[in-house]
Amino acid sequence: YYDQDTVIFHNGEFVKAAESKADLFSQSLHYGNGVFDAMRAYGTALGPNIFKARDHFSRFLDAANTMHLGLDYSVDELVGVSYQLLEENGFSDAYIRPLVYAEANMDLTPTKKHNIFIAAWRWDKFLGKDLLDITISTYTRPSPHSFNVEAKISGHYINSIVSIAEAKERGFDDALLLDVDGFIAEGTGANFFFEKEGKLYTSQKGHIYPGITRNVVFDIAKSLGVEVVEGQYKPEDLKDIDGAFFTGTAAQITGINSIDRHLVLKDWEDTIGFEVFEKYRQYVTQSEYDNYSII
Ligand code: PMP
Repeated sequence: YYDQDTVIFHNGEFVKAAESKADLFSQSLHYGNGVFDAMRAYGTALGPNIFKARDHFSRFLDAANTMHLGLDYSVDELVGVSYQLLEENGFSDAYIRPLVYAEANMDLTPTKKHNIFIAAWRWDKFLGKDLLDITISTYTRPSPHSFNVEAKISGHYINSIVSIAEAKERGFDDALLLDVDGFIAEGTGANFFFEKEGKLYTSQKGHIYPGITRNVVFDIAKSLGVEVVEGQYKPEDLKDIDGAFFTGTAAQITGINSIDRHLVLKDWEDTIGFEVFEKYRQYVTQSEYDNYSII
């Protein structure tokens, strides 16, 4: 993620990643009380474009407020810092990771002071190979009654880590998780869609992280004249599906080959998911320079 020359933004300054320090008594390290986001910059004819930068940073600031980790930065300032960070590192295609983490605090009360970190690195495709063989995890996504599942809280990701570990131990690439009521929720770091008889289906909001890519897929599907139905689906609804895919900033649109060894019926190239994937690639790299656009 970094080498001797990599520059990060840390508490108001551009500094070398290799020389930066964080407090070992940070409440974030011990209890997972941090908030992050993830976005991507794509090289375009007009230079790097951080896709949906304002949407990502508004979501980031909202999540930080939820966790009493509110920041003294505006969305526009954070967008500006991120462009400067790309320049400092000479990146045009990059993954960008803002994180707000807490000060030293070994009890469980909200901390008054906190830190901001933004880093960028090249991360071409998160999910390694192109088509995934996935399994339904024995772990469920956390209940929205346990904490705010719509905020990207660091500690929340332990659920993803144990689910991926379990999936890999059983010979799969990744996992699909159900919610606490047994309905399909989402992947470990991505939203989930499936295709049946010319329509796309995805989990409704409530138990999932409402991804920005998920919104973009809704828009692309509309432009293709494809209906997307949000609802509550059970694992048995995944029998005889034509296709399936994960969506996310890192995953982009990643096709799924099989779920618990049941193959989807169509070849990836023949699915709506693939059409969406192609449009998405065009959208992020060839769309007009839209670093201030909100869908
Ligand atoms: N669900 C989870 C659990 C995630 O971690 C992510 C990645 N941020 C997503 C969905 C997709 O969100 P987005 O499209 O905004 O990247």
